[in-house]
Amino acid sequence: MKPAPFDYHAPATLAEAVRLLQQYEDDGIDAKVLAGGQSLMPMLALRVARPEVLIDLRQVAGLTGIREDAGTIVIGAMEPKQLAAESPLVQQKQPLFHAATELVGHRQIRNRGSVGGSFAHADPASEYPAVALVLDMEFKAVGPGGERSIPAEEFFVTYMTTSLETNEILTEVRMPVMAPGTGWAIQEMARRNGDLALAGVALTLQASGGICTAARIAAFGVNATAVRLPQAEAALVGQALNATNFTNAAALGAAELVEPMTCIHASASYRRQLVKTLLERCLAEAAGRLG
Ligand SMILES: Cc1cc2nc3c(=O)[nH]c(=O)nc-3n(C[C@H](O)[C@H](O)[C@H](O)COP(=O)(O)OP(=O)(O)OC[C@H]3O[C@@H](n4cnc5c(N)ncnc54)[C@H](O)[C@@H]3O)c2cc1C
Repeated sequence: MKPAPFDYHAPATLAEAVRLLQQYEDDGIDAKVLAGGQSLMPMLALRVARPEVLIDLRQVAGLTGIREDAGTIVIGAMEPKQLAAESPLVQQKQPLFHAATELVGHRQIRNRGSVGGSFAHADPASEYPAVALVLDMEFKAVGPGGERSIPAEEFFVTYMTTSLETNEILTEVRMPVMAPGTGWAIQEMARRNGDLALAGVALTLQASGGICTAARIAAFGVNATAVRLPQAEAALVGQALNATNFTNAAALGAAELVEPMTCIHASASYRRQLVKTLLERCLAEAAGRLG
């Protein structure tokens, strides 16, 4: 199928892009921003989405780049995912985000798809929202009222829905540099290499003298949005990092998932089992990276 007809704008500035979004909203016309098009264009072609206007962000100045700012890695929303994956700064200082990026689709998709587009799209099977929860990322958005900062736990609302207003543009993603000695892991199960995950787990661990001092765990591909697993986290803190405790925490994590999704590829119980297995494996992998 081909997309339904739409009007097209390619503004050169963020202010102009926001002005266009606001103007169309005031006129009751459905306008959407276009980033890399790797999710939006298929949705247009299938007519799952039928915006009357597309506002292309690719000419907008100032939305790309990767830099470090006082212990925080700042990535422009329009930075291509492949460049984020290849960035030495990201590879060395935020290896979990690097590993997550390499799991996203294929190189061609990462070349075109933007970092911000994946967060704004908020696909429940995407690696990025789970990593955002684990790393406690922050999102900067600009709208007619100016700029605001949104913490990850308030950003992802439900299935493909974020707390961005319809007249706001995501401009920047901020994530902490990984603290030295942190253990981390991300694992997923997909039908084919590059497919969106049927289920996955991302986590970080910290420890002192073989005892877990902090754990942040999130599952993706299971519910309408990525979810933290607080019972599994709590079960680990204060405990020795050993296989028995990993098995117990994984069982708790799988049990605390509320109504996993069912689809033709994976039932709810299969997804729950996947989270248990992947969580146990991630804990062992992350423990191997501690220190
Ligand atoms: C074959 C295939 C496999 C894929 N596999 C994976 C995978 O394994 N994991 C994964 O996470 N993704 C996967 N994707 C999706 C891919 O990562 C997309 O690049 C990403 O979801 C969207 O980024 P984009 O820049 O292309 O955004 P677009 O498709 O242009 O936009 C997506 C949505 O986000 C909105 N949006 C984009 N940028 C902004 C912004 N700055 N501010 C406000 N709203 C914005 C758009 O309006 C639109 O609603 C896959 C895609 C394909 C085609």
